[in-house]
Amino acid sequence: MKPRIRQPQRGARLRPFLDALAARYHRAALLGTDPLAVVRGFADPDDRGFAALFAALLAYGNVKQINASLRDLFGRMDHEPASFIRGWNYAAGFERLTGGGGFRHRFTDAEDIACLCQLLHHATRGGRTLEDVFVAGYDPAEPDLVGAATRFVEALFAQPFTPHFDRTRMLAKSSFKHLLPVAARGSAAKRIHLFLRWVIRPDDGIDLGLWRRIPPEKLLMPVDTHIFRVGRNLGLIRRKTASLEAAREMTAALRAARPEDPVCYDFALCRLGILGDCPPVSELTRCRGCDLHDVCVRRHRLESRARRSG
Ligand code: SF4
Repeated sequence: MKPRIRQPQRGARLRPFLDALAARYHRAALLGTDPLAVVRGFADPDDRGFAALFAALLAYGNVKQINASLRDLFGRMDHEPASFIRGWNYAAGFERLTGGGGFRHRFTDAEDIACLCQLLHHATRGGRTLEDVFVAGYDPAEPDLVGAATRFVEALFAQPFTPHFDRTRMLAKSSFKHLLPVAARGSAAKRIHLFLRWVIRPDDGIDLGLWRRIPPEKLLMPVDTHIFRVGRNLGLIRRKTASLEAAREMTAALRAARPEDPVCYDFALCRLGILGDCPPVSELTRCRGCDLHDVCVRRHRLESRARRSG
């Protein structure tokens, strides 16, 4: 019987491969395929922080659609998201978001964004930054940021919804609940962990390095369908669904490769899926030119199957 792959060992063994992959794909020249390109259009750190939060929370669907929605949203904010939120005025803000057909990104509507603006406005009153709000719920004794990310969203939900929004109705509204995932509830909560990667990892031309009080070693891999598939193919995830546990499993494996910065390969790994290098349904013909060819456990399975079927 073959010994089972132990993910941390596997992560450590893959480091040369991962470093080579990062050299190829962790490059600012590839930012055009990522919502970070829109966020990096803001020079002011306060604008960047708020823009990063909106960009991450709306990072579902295809990149072209996400970036078009972000450009629409920030246009409605006069390209000053920090001023729009810090000076939030319901009547004027709601009109901006609902005017001209209204903001919509797939199932997120103008009301969801307006309510989020109001909660952010209250949470960051008195010049508090998003980092201040997050750090208030951060416990350095915890091994990762799942608890802190949960408390961050709960801190937003604790802000006044009234008089313009009904708290009970908004917290039951599926599109609003989707917009602000609660990290501890068992899903991978990819969009929250993506936001944290962007603001916590140092500015390397891709990530933003906006926050200084939380070490990158605490970050969790933002696991979406692309990363889940790549993680499984690399033998870094054994779980069958893209859950919180799958994200922790993959992060633990990558921590063995890069203890101080386990999510540093996320951008490069994500490019593989987005650029179509590893299609969801693999055929051996596609494997030949694939970046993962030499290390892919799925390819071994596909080859064994092909040999068995003759
Ligand atoms: S080698 Fe094949 S199965 Fe593995 S990641 Fe590449 S295309 Fe997918």
